[in-house]
Amino acid sequence: MEVERMANKSMKQCNICEDVTSEGFYLFLTFICSKCEQEMVHTSPEEEKYQYFIDRLKSNRIQEMLM
Ligand SMILES: [Zn+2]
Repeated sequence: MEVERMANKSMKQCNICEDVTSEGFYLFLTFICSKCEQEMVHTSPEEEKYQYFIDRLKSNRIQEMLM
């Protein structure tokens, strides 16, 4: 059940791909899973995907400021 999975403290939802995982880290208040971390590391700023990551991070930061 989704609620029980979220209640487990070791499981977190990635703010980029929205996967629920225990592997990852916090960048400011945004949780990023290890999979996205690896993708970001291997994505250069010229790539379109990089902008997607930045947009996801920005939108999460703005949501937190509004709450
Ligand atoms: Zn992710």
